[in-house]
Amino acid sequence: MTQMIHRNLRHTPPTAVCAFGMYLRDSNGNTYLDASGGAAVSSLGHSHPDVLAAMGAQMKSTAYAHSGFFTTDVAEELAHRLATDAPGDLNNVYLVSGGSEAMESALKMARQYFVENGEHERRVFISRRQSYHGNTLGALALGGNEARRKQFEPLLMDVARVAPCYEYRDRPAGQDVNEYTAGLVDELERKILEAGPHNIIGFCAEPVVGATLGAVPPTPGYFKGVRALCNKYGILFIADEVMCGMGRTGTLYAIEQDGVVPDLVALGKGLAAGYQPIGAVLARDHVVERLRGGSGVFQHGHTYNAHPVAAAAALAVQKVIRRDCLLGAATVRGTTLRRMLRDAFGAHPHVGDIRGRGLLVGMELVQDRENKRPFDPDLKLFAAVKEKAMDCGLMVYPMGGTADGRRGDHILLAPPFIATEADMAQIVSRLSDALGRALAAIR
Ligand code: PLP
Repeated sequence: MTQMIHRNLRHTPPTAVCAFGMYLRDSNGNTYLDASGGAAVSSLGHSHPDVLAAMGAQMKSTAYAHSGFFTTDVAEELAHRLATDAPGDLNNVYLVSGGSEAMESALKMARQYFVENGEHERRVFISRRQSYHGNTLGALALGGNEARRKQFEPLLMDVARVAPCYEYRDRPAGQDVNEYTAGLVDELERKILEAGPHNIIGFCAEPVVGATLGAVPPTPGYFKGVRALCNKYGILFIADEVMCGMGRTGTLYAIEQDGVVPDLVALGKGLAAGYQPIGAVLARDHVVERLRGGSGVFQHGHTYNAHPVAAAAALAVQKVIRRDCLLGAATVRGTTLRRMLRDAFGAHPHVGDIRGRGLLVGMELVQDRENKRPFDPDLKLFAAVKEKAMDCGLMVYPMGGTADGRRGDHILLAPPFIATEADMAQIVSRLSDALGRALAAIR
């Protein structure tokens, strides 16, 4: 008997049979309001006619052309658009098939950048604790998500780590936010000096932390401090925008709002909004010029690099976002959604924080609002919320807390940018129902 390998091997999820706009339907006729865009992927909702038409046309013309033999107009046009809309001189685009591949490619490009300069000793990446950058071995090594790393620890390269910028939990009461930010930048500088600047390749972070912390934006000035340190010590700054990029936070690139230009940016998820698997790395001119002037080859590649149908889907998605002014919509609707959540849960005894940027929105759950004590992770409140939300016809993307209490369970909301006020009211009302049922179930 054939068995599909799902993440949970003891449980087969419902069978999705159709998806349209904000909704998916399963084979039992149940409908689900997509409040998380899957995993912060579906920015246009499902079955968008423009995207389907663009994919169909590309399939009929050239469904596949190996990037070792050909380029295609559609991949070139997508690359041009991504680069033109990116901050600074992020003019160089490498198209892959997803977020982890984008991160792997960025890590290897960063290493090769130094090797081309004879700096073979550079092998250290610095990332942040409680981070997630993908599930392939390089990206997993970079991430600090204990649960996802645990079994694979012996296979992972060593990475230096600093604290995330997580104001809700880590800024002591009474400490000025600028002082908190300066402390984080100081910690990064100490880590750079400890590892030896000449050994370091780069620092990697998500501009707005998605899955591991639940839509946590940086404090003002944090990334300016990071950028200044990377310049001072000649190391690369790699921004992982796989989840927070492509308009999710109200600007095409989340880091635009922090006023700095990374050396490398990884994209995925919202790039083609789920219509095709695709990711990308954007690199600044100085990075690619060094490779071009050195060996002339980026020593990397995958069979589906720059896949034309995936590029067609991504290009169509990006055109619709621009045409329908959906970046502005993500900002405005994100503010509305957070306001609605505050109205519904602002006084809830187990909701500690409601936060986010644009339509990347998070709600952290706590046992006790006063001292921010999280629920015991063994209770798996996050899993109960997901299950009860599905029972209420709602898709949310929750994540568990940690045993050391450094993070509580949280619920991530990342609805498509087309969500109306009525959709958002439904999201909040179903979530309220689901949370009530989940809390009852774990007691
Ligand atoms: N980076 C971040 C910040 C992510 O959130 C994810 C996925 O959730 C990845 C990388 C990996 O992307 P993928 O699952 O497409 O490989």
